[in-house]
This record gives sequence, structure tokens and C-alpha cells, in this order.
Amino acid sequence: MTERGTGEGPEPIPVFPTGMAGKLLSFARVRTATALLRAKVSDRFVSIRAKVVSLLTLIGAALIVLSGLFAVYDFKSNLDFKVWSRAAGVGEAIVYAARNAETLGDIEPVIQAVAGAPALKGAAVAGADGRVVLSSLPSWKGKPLDIGRELEPGKAVPIPQQKRLGGYGRYPGDYALSVEFPRMNRTATVLIRVDADLLASQTVADAWQLMTWLVIAVILAILSLSLLVHRVVVAPIEALKVFAETGGEGKAEAVGPDDEIGVIARALSDSFRARTDGEARLIALAATDGLTGLGNRTHFKAQLAADVAAGQRLNGSSAGGRNVGVMILNLDNFKDVNDTLGHDAGDKLLQRTAELLRGCAREGDTVARIGGDEFGVIMPGIKNADDALQLASRLVRAVGAPFRLGVQEVQQAACVGLTLYPQDGRDADVLIKNADLALSRAKLEGAGACVLYRHELHLRAIERNTIERDLRAALAKDQLTLFYQPKIDVASGRVVGAEALVRWRHEERGYVPPALFIPVAERSGLVVPLTKWVLNEACRQNREWQDQGLTKISVAANVSAIDLRRTDLTDTIANTLIRNGLSPQYLELEVTESMMQDVDVVIGTLRRLRSLGVGIGIDDFGTGYSSLAYLKRFPVKRLKIDRSFVLDVADRRDGDVIPKVIIDLGHALGMKVVAEGVETADQYERLQELGCDEVQGYFAGRPMPAAEFEVFLRNSPAGGLRGAAKAAGGTAA
Ligand code: C2E
Ligand code: MG
Ligand code: MG
Repeated sequence: MTERGTGEGPEPIPVFPTGMAGKLLSFARVRTATALLRAKVSDRFVSIRAKVVSLLTLIGAALIVLSGLFAVYDFKSNLDFKVWSRAAGVGEAIVYAARNAETLGDIEPVIQAVAGAPALKGAAVAGADGRVVLSSLPSWKGKPLDIGRELEPGKAVPIPQQKRLGGYGRYPGDYALSVEFPRMNRTATVLIRVDADLLASQTVADAWQLMTWLVIAVILAILSLSLLVHRVVVAPIEALKVFAETGGEGKAEAVGPDDEIGVIARALSDSFRARTDGEARLIALAATDGLTGLGNRTHFKAQLAADVAAGQRLNGSSAGGRNVGVMILNLDNFKDVNDTLGHDAGDKLLQRTAELLRGCAREGDTVARIGGDEFGVIMPGIKNADDALQLASRLVRAVGAPFRLGVQEVQQAACVGLTLYPQDGRDADVLIKNADLALSRAKLEGAGACVLYRHELHLRAIERNTIERDLRAALAKDQLTLFYQPKIDVASGRVVGAEALVRWRHEERGYVPPALFIPVAERSGLVVPLTKWVLNEACRQNREWQDQGLTKISVAANVSAIDLRRTDLTDTIANTLIRNGLSPQYLELEVTESMMQDVDVVIGTLRRLRSLGVGIGIDDFGTGYSSLAYLKRFPVKRLKIDRSFVLDVADRRDGDVIPKVIIDLGHALGMKVVAEGVETADQYERLQELGCDEVQGYFAGRPMPAAEFEVFLRNSPAGGLRGAAKAAGGTAA
């Protein structure tokens, strides 16, 4: 083993000798450079066509350059040969003439003949002293002829440039040969000058011709190669590119030979087809309602937009077109079916409705399920609103017919909102919105109603918005007041209570009736702060009257179903009473029968209020859907017979039947019964006979401002209602 290094650890053992490493390094550099070049080329010539064209152009140029080089080489060798063979031919003739010559002069005619021969300039013979003795050119005579080399007898060799005699042209054409003169027993050197320039110009012409043919051949070869490559490679790849870029659009299948490109194209077309099929399936799924198989809301909107557009086109202008009817059908109280009969029954009912609608729809109509219990029908080309209404009521009748659902016989009512393109809207969104508006109106009208959207509905909605906005402001600015209407005890004729009725005097519109703004307040939720305000004001006023030493009465405030559904109502009322220092027995709440629809929600609230000591009365009794069973469960203190029944109460034939039933029912349940809207003495007397406990109405006193009511209460006699009525002075709002 030999030692390496001098002690500071072993020296690295070179894997390659230095020279080899250097070569590898430069090899790596070359590779990087080529890679760079290739990248540059690829960048510049992005398409296959550009690459092929540039490659073929490069090959063509290289072939043309090669042809040129070949022509030059050919010219050169051709010229050399031509010049030599000319010289050799003359040399042979001179050698032949020298065979029989006895003096040098004998070959002179041959020498002189050279001067006139084609492509020859002249010839000369040198004597024993090396000087020219015989010459076809006089200027050469006597000049020394030094060839500078040994000559073989009879063989012509070119004379090196520096040894030549002057007077030659562009191309060298001087040859020398040694000629034997056997009869003279000597040899002589012969110089032959070929006209190389002349031969060169002939050869150049030949070379050009050759070059031309070669270039033509190269161009033709490259052109045919291009055509071939285009057909076999470029065109199919370009077609493949278009196919891939357009996702196979417009072509169901890629067609072509079974080569590699064909295989790629077919694989692509398979994947495109799979994707398109998947997309189509997804689109169909996204537009379908799973339960009924009908289109869903998205589909409905898209179809309506298409039908409206078609309607416009049919007329050839955007100003209108054929009619398109839009119908939205809603199943009444569908939630109850789910709640009482179960979701399976609900699903069956929806499927049945879908079937019925499908069956009744005309050809070209679209039926869709656009909400939980809502269906939409598009009727393109419907003649007029009457036809649309007719079709709608046919559908409602079909849906409303009794049918069996499991073991039950069921009847499902529905109502319909209708709009018509172009009169009710010119685009799908507006038409659907207006049909929805018409539907809400239909719902108000009751089961089986079909309502056609009219412009007024829209105006009414605008009106509602203004009322809501102004009412909000009125609440904030404290522009509301309470009027009080007396309640008279029939037995004693005393004022025992008052109903607080809200009044709004609008800055511009003047007096706005509660019947107009209370529903708006209920819809918008404004009723909650409104009720708070009413409760507080009623309690405050009542406490003030009590403080003035007036007869203690109970003041009733109206609360809506929305208030009742709020869990904080009891707290609000308790706080209000405490704040105003009013005992709960002097506050009463009037609720309407509609709240009974939410019996489970409100019964708790009502019970809590009752245990607080607040009285509860049912307002407008007899007009709603009171279930007598529920009535028993409610902690109700008072029933208020609706004004519509009081109107005919004095009618001796049967006008008193309903008031009597209500009075008996109330008494049987331990409640007091009040009649509202009592306007005449006859009504009053009849109610008295029927045993009604209290009356309220214009006969006893109109709703009046607090100050007036105070006077009314002060003057209220211990008995005799007529006097009290007079004292009210007929103040009305
Ligand atoms: P309601 O609670 O049934 O009130 C009785 C309505 O009958 C009052 O109409 C009253 O002015 C009217 N009236 C009383 N006596 C007679 C009569 O002899 N003949 C006739 N034709 N009408 C009589 P008003 O004040 O226009 O109130 C209408 C409805 O608005 C009320 O009906 C009530 O449901 C609601 N309302 C009024 N104030 C409030 C309130 O503060 N809160 C709530 N939630 N609703 C209120
Ligand atoms: Mg009332
Ligand atoms: Mg009422």
C-alpha cells in the first residue's frame, strides 16, 4: 500500500482522473446547452406544424448547402481532369511526333499546331541547356524552363506555380512532360499550356446546371416529404387538438385509423362521452323533484323563461307575444296532514297531486313542484285570463275531490294564484312573484279560491310598504293615541269597563283605520312594539283615572295572535302593571279566535296571564273556528259576541238564535258574555232579555279620546243607560 496525503486525514480518492472529469464536465455543459436550446426552440415553435415546417426547412437548407458543396467539388475535380486530359492529349501527340524526329525542328509543326487548337494556348520545347528553343508563343523563346522535379517520360504533370512561365490566366493550365527523341538519342522537356480559363467557364456552366437540378430535386423532395408528414402526422394531430379543445363538441365519435393518434382520439371521445352523460344526468337530477318526478323550482323558472322568450319571438318583437299563463297551486294546511297522518301520507298526497296536475295539464304545459306544498303550472299559448282561470279551477276541483289515503277518506283543499304573460309581467321572476302575490290573496279568500293577479294587487303591496314605513315612524314619534269605548253592565246600567282602541292620525293621509294598518303591523312584526305601547298607555291612563277618584273600571286591550305566540308576553304585561301601579284585575286582554289554531303554543301563556289576575276575553266570537272543546280548556273570562250577530238580534224571526246560543254557552262555561256593536235600543233590550251581561256599541257610547271618556265616566249615572249614551255626545273616531 502507498501512502496518500501527509497526515490530516485521508485525501479524497479521485474517482476519475482529472482529464476524464474535465471531459465529463464539458459533456454536462453541452447537455445543459442542448436542453436550453431545445427549450428555446419548443418555446418559439409551439405547434407541431411549426416544428415540422422548421425541421424540414432546416433539412432542405442543409441539402441545398450540400448540393452547393458537391457542385463546387465536382467543378473543381472536373476542371482539373479536363485540363489534365487536354494536356495529356497534346503530350501524346508530341511524343508520337518525337518518335521519328531527327531534329527538334521536325516537331515544330506539331508545336505550332497547338496554338490554334481549341482550349490550348501554346506549347514549347526546351533544349539541352534548359532554355526554350521551340515555341508556339514567340515570347517564350529563349526563356529558361525549370520544372523543379524529375519527369517521367511521356507523362504530363502540372507545373508548380512558382516555376511557371508568365502570361497564364486565372486558372493554372501549365503542364510539362519529358519527351524522348530516339533517333537523336536524347530527351527534351515539353511545356504545354492549356486554356484553363476557357475550360473553367465551360465547367462552371455545367456546375450551375447541376446545382440547379440538385436544388430542384431537394425542393421537390422536401415538398413531398412535407405533404406526407402533414397527412400522416400534422393534420391528425391538429384534428385531435381541436377535438380535445372543444371537448368533442359536435362530434359524437372520433373517427380515423387505428394508429396511436386514433387510439388517443378514441380514448378522449370515450371520456368526453362519459363526462357529457354524467353532466346531463346531474343537470336532470338538479332540475327534478325526487318525490314526484316533476321538475323543481329551478326547472320551472328556466322553462318559464324559455316559454316567455318563445312567446316574444312568435310575435317577432319584444313588445309582446302569445300569452303564457303561470299558475301556482298551494295545498291548504298541508302541514296538518303531515302532523296528523304522518309523513308517508303527506308524501302520497303530494304524489297524487302531481299525478292529477299532470293528467289535467294540456300538451305543452309544464307542471313542477316548486315548494313543499306548492306546485307550478306553465301554460304557453293560453288564450286569455278566463281560460287560465277555468283550467285553474278544474285543477283545484280535481285536487279537492275526496280520496282514500290508507284507511282514511281525505279531502285536500287547494288555492291558486295566476298571472299572465305579457299583461302581468314580462320576465319569469316578475311573473312568479306576481303569481305568489295572487296566491296569498287566494289564501285569504279561502279554500278553493283561484285569484288572477291584477295590477291593483301590486299597488296594494306598494301601499302596504308605505304604511309599514310610516307606522314605524309614527310609533317612534309617538303619534298614536288610544280611544276608549265604554262597556255597560246590562243589569245595573253602570260603566264597568272600556275597550282601548288605537288611533293613528297620519300627517298627510289623516285618519288611518286600524283595519288597514293592524294587518300590516301583524305581517311586519310591528304589532309587537305596538301592543307594548297600547298596554302601557291603557294601564297608565286607567291608573290616572283611578288616582282622580273615578269609578274603578277594567280597560281591555286587543292583542293579536302574534303577540300571544311570544313567550315574553306575560313578563311584558307584569312589568307594565308594576310600572304603572295598576292591579291586574283592571286589565283585560281581547284575543280573537284565530289564536286557537296554535292552541298548544298559546294556552300556556293564557294560563300564566290568568293566574297573574289579568282577564281574558274572546273577541268577535262566532266568526272564527272555535272548537268548543278548546274553549273549555282556555281560562277565558268573557265571550264577546261578534257585531255581525248583534246586527239582527232584534229580528224576531231567528236573528237571536246565535246570540242566544253564545250567551247560554258562555254562562254554562262560567263566563260573562258581552255584545259588541250594539247600536239601537231594540238590540239592547233584546240582549237584555236573552241574559247578556254587558253591551258595547254606539248605543252606549262611541270610542272617544281619554279626556272625553273621563267626562263620560264622571257623568255616568248610577243607573239608566240612555242618559249615559247622551252624555257620550256621539264622539266618534
Ligand atoms: P274590535 O276589537 O272588534 O273592536 C271593535 C270595533 O268595532 C272598533 O273598530 C269599534 O270602533 C267598532 N265599533 C264599536 N261599536 C260599534 C258600533 O256600534 N257599530 C259599529 N259599526 N262599529 C262599532 P275599530 O276601532 O276600527 O277597530 C277595528 C279593529 O281593529 C278592532 O276590532 C281590533 O281587532 C283592531 N284593533 C283596534 N285597536 C287595536 C289595538 O290596539 N291592537 C290590536 N292588536 N288590534 C286593534
Ligand atoms: Mg276588540
Ligand atoms: Mg270585535
